[in-house]
Amino acid sequence: DTVGAALDRAVRSFPEREAVVEHATGRRWTYARLAADVDAVALGLRARGVGKGDRVGIWAPNRAEWTLVQYATARLGAILVTINPAYRAHELEYVLNQAGVRLLVAAERFKTSDYAAMIAEVRPRCPELADVVLLDGPDWPALLAAGEAAGAAGDGGQAELAQIERGLSADDPINIQYTSGTTGFPKGATLSHRNILNNGYFVGELCNYTERDRICIPVPFYHCFGMVMGNLAAVSHGACTVIPAPAFDAATTLAAVAAERCTSLYGVPTMFIAELADPGFDGYDLSSLRTGIMAGAPCPTEVMKGVMERMGMTEVSICYGMTETSPVSTQTRADDSVERRVSTVGRVGPHLEVKVVDPETGHTVPRGEPGELCTRGYSVMLGYWAEPVKTAEAVDPDGWMHTGDLAVMDADGYLSITGRIKDMVIRGGENVYPREVEEFLYAHPDVLDVQVIGVPDAKYGEELMAWVRMREGARPLTAEAVRAFCTGRLAHFKIPRYVHVVDEFPMTVTGKVRKVEMRERAAAILA
Ligand code: ATP
Ligand code: MG
Repeated sequence: DTVGAALDRAVRSFPEREAVVEHATGRRWTYARLAADVDAVALGLRARGVGKGDRVGIWAPNRAEWTLVQYATARLGAILVTINPAYRAHELEYVLNQAGVRLLVAAERFKTSDYAAMIAEVRPRCPELADVVLLDGPDWPALLAAGEAAGAAGDGGQAELAQIERGLSADDPINIQYTSGTTGFPKGATLSHRNILNNGYFVGELCNYTERDRICIPVPFYHCFGMVMGNLAAVSHGACTVIPAPAFDAATTLAAVAAERCTSLYGVPTMFIAELADPGFDGYDLSSLRTGIMAGAPCPTEVMKGVMERMGMTEVSICYGMTETSPVSTQTRADDSVERRVSTVGRVGPHLEVKVVDPETGHTVPRGEPGELCTRGYSVMLGYWAEPVKTAEAVDPDGWMHTGDLAVMDADGYLSITGRIKDMVIRGGENVYPREVEEFLYAHPDVLDVQVIGVPDAKYGEELMAWVRMREGARPLTAEAVRAFCTGRLAHFKIPRYVHVVDEFPMTVTGKVRKVEMRERAAAILA
């Protein structure tokens, strides 16, 4: 199936149910209105020359137009290039040229980012960029008007769109999504209708979504988490997406859940940490919450307990995945035990395969032993856009995606992610998984959040350094205090030698901690 066909089904089944709600502005779309606007945008883009296979960029924080453009480009068989709202001019230029974007839809500005100025700056250096549509000026209404005019004749443009739809295949590319850039420069994963529509559908199945669900999405749309696990899970079940605000804010997210009676809430662990710590937390009625998805990074036990007990998300799912696999590969089920939700990322999803291999030999390791996680199935990307060498390094000839993540599979098939191969620390010949040390330090009463990295050391090869965010009012933690807290409870080689107290960690806009950057800064601190 194509994404356009999935939208058609939702519209036929639930025309009057809400599809998209913007909490911050109060704007609302039923499925019928969503479909009408999507068709107008599609016809408007078509009038500006966008056709099958053309790359259309979108550069904007979360807002309803983002969703409209997502479905409109799907209808046209165009390839949506989702651009990180936090990018600056040089990153924008790279993506526009790397993906060969022909038309760019963008917000005019957001916070300190003047998108319009940055676009004007790079445009002379982007030969393939033929057209720019700004959402906040006159361009967008003009595009809609052109689309509506094109649709006003006869059957409202339906014949034209149906004709295009007949020319599409589920294996056509529909998106180029750049990875978060946690471990280096973002890579553009090319994904097909089959990749992402199936993934959205199965993620929604495992969340038991129906048309009565209302999914609060504070995670960015530009990433799979928002646009696939959010938007496509919703559309394939007739559910509603609630956009709390253009960018994440804990209080606004809680207010949106309460006001819109959301049944599901998404986030990376750091977002849930912020929500649970919000001073107004007890004032929000979160009783509508049943489920949600936490993904992207490991979740500390205390946070999971808070989410289940204090937020009432008793069915919350932990998902594991990556952009290259559309994204989800494993997921906990609604009836999994609390323990499994805390310590694992669940089992493999329907119609997918996983294996854990020795990264050196490629042989599958016994259950219970760590190795590199590999995944295979409908979800594996078509490839990195215009990067055949990188694609061949990531996806082997048998179709296995080599994730770069370390995992352990237990006897029942539940997987635990123990870290990234690149983040593992080898101290004096001992493998240390930062995740384990982080979990331990997280239990310290003064610690709000903690990250552990390896730093070069003349004697041991690497030493551990903990970066700590303190709870409000707590005194900065010292290396001595950490040693005292750990001694006798953690093997000596896992005890951080250095402690660095910070207000914030360097983060990607998807809310992941950039350990590469921490390692660079740590080297400077220690030098
Ligand atoms: P880049 O590939 O550019 O370095 P990235 O890998 O962070 O960035 P994404 O595709 O957004 O980009 O994230 C996928 C990665 O996120 C996975 O490979 C894994 O390391 C991590 N991850 C995802 N879900 C989980 C989870 N539930 N628990 C632990 N780690 C997770
Ligand atoms: Mg990655």
